[in-house]
Amino acid sequence: MIRLYTCKQFVWLLLLSGALAGTKPAGPPQVRIGVFGLFHPQQLLVKALPGKAVLLQAEKQSFVLESSSGRQTAEIKLSPGGVLVRVGDRMVSAMEVRVSGRDGATTDFELAVPGKIHRRYRGILRITGAAGSLTPVVAMDLETGVSSAVQAETIPDTPLEALKAQAVATRSYFLAAKERHQDFDFCDTTHCQFLREPPTAGSLAWRATTATRGLVLTYRDQGIAAMFTRSCGGQTRTPDELGMPSANYPYFPVSCDFCQKHPMRWQRSVSLPEAERLAHAGEAVRLEIGRRQGWNAVPSNNFTVRREKGQAVLEGTGEGHGIGLCQWGAKAMAEQGADFRQILNHYYPNTQIQSVR
Ligand SMILES: [Zn+2]
Ligand SMILES: [Zn+2]
Repeated sequence: MIRLYTCKQFVWLLLLSGALAGTKPAGPPQVRIGVFGLFHPQQLLVKALPGKAVLLQAEKQSFVLESSSGRQTAEIKLSPGGVLVRVGDRMVSAMEVRVSGRDGATTDFELAVPGKIHRRYRGILRITGAAGSLTPVVAMDLETGVSSAVQAETIPDTPLEALKAQAVATRSYFLAAKERHQDFDFCDTTHCQFLREPPTAGSLAWRATTATRGLVLTYRDQGIAAMFTRSCGGQTRTPDELGMPSANYPYFPVSCDFCQKHPMRWQRSVSLPEAERLAHAGEAVRLEIGRRQGWNAVPSNNFTVRREKGQAVLEGTGEGHGIGLCQWGAKAMAEQGADFRQILNHYYPNTQIQSVR
């Protein structure tokens, strides 16, 4: 059943989305995503897309980037005072660069780490420089953030109803998770949620987001930072089991038919001390190993350990922490005719779906 929030219940959402921060009037919820952090960029290129002029402000100077004018790209480099901006033959030193549409509002633009990656974003970009690298942060409308994360998290051939369940989980997470990073709300990696470019209008990720606009998961009338996992290994886990804080939803282990019938098996070797620490501290150690050796170094928390040639051989199933919605399981449920509400009810027992529109 959908029901509307009362004003009082809505306050936590406004607070968490930053809409009440400072003296700014409360507008539509936004999320601030720190992008390209994995690259520790020293140099960035901001590029105007065809037909979309971009206003770039640094200190008291303004530049307009426009593909038709031949001045389409700005180069931003790390400098001792913050950032150094170059547009054509003009250069300016600044603490921060702000990139928006000509009217100062949200726009589409391209951001690149030269030679490594380039992506299109929709929002307002701020770039600062400190601690040895540039920090680009895109403030985007919540629904743009949701659709971009759904697009990035999609398993190929996932039906619409499973993507709608993902969209509700993603939106809930964005609104209820907090203090993930110092300079922004969320990063664009699995640490928070994968996030890439916004999907094109009419695509499945776009349809899943627009069809569930404003819907979030709540538990006892509080929004929950809904966690999800690629493949649960047959039964979902709880944060408590893995030594993680559970905030305002304890989670409940549920069985997952698809993963029981089609377990995603893996095998890895780690050092004996690492295996020992994994056995005791679970998810925190798995993430720590992942940060050093790649996110797939220990794919999940479901494994057995055996000693072999001075190493610990882990044999496991599943991918991810195993908490909340299982993306492979949701895909299978949707293929068998379940709608997004049934999928969410299965993986997040005792929750409600409420509208924050
Ligand atoms: Zn993060
Ligand atoms: Zn599963």
